[in-house]
Amino acid sequence: MVLDGGVSVDLRKIFNNSERSLSFDTSFSLGEDPFFDEVRVEGCILNRGGVVTLEAKFSTVFDFECHRCLEKTSRRYTGKTTRTLVLKLDSDEDTDLLLLPDAVLDLPELIREEMFLQLPSLLLCRDDCKGLCHQCGANLNVGECSCTTPIDPRLEKLASIIDN
Ligand SMILES: [Zn+2]
Ligand SMILES: [Zn+2]
Repeated sequence: MVLDGGVSVDLRKIFNNSERSLSFDTSFSLGEDPFFDEVRVEGCILNRGGVVTLEAKFSTVFDFECHRCLEKTSRRYTGKTTRTLVLKLDSDEDTDLLLLPDAVLDLPELIREEMFLQLPSLLLCRDDCKGLCHQCGANLNVGECSCTTPIDPRLEKLASIIDN
């Protein structure tokens, strides 16, 4: 069974084992979310002796403002996920299981969740982004501003120790 185009996936045949696997290679836009561009998702869902697992790889380009210098930046982002899918939970403590009471998987919703979980909390335009000058707000990646040279970070640390 191959998924073509649709993004809500009916998994009843996988759960009742009349189909053993479903593979997908699809793209969708996370429409309401301007953060992400189109997302491509490849993977498969497999019933192994009654245990249904999903494995997926995804890639997208997303736009953000660098947390240090506020430059608008685009970055390709890829990730992967493996989840066990269940129709009901025996205990509500196992949060790794993905509960699908109607055997219908909302693939975009799952991928959106995974991406937000996996994205680093500090997003930079580049690893060595110099950020903005604290005094005049100049972007220090572009060039030095005319403010006094910032204190050496080692001395700054020492100064804060002395202050305390
Ligand atoms: Zn930056
Ligand atoms: Zn400055």
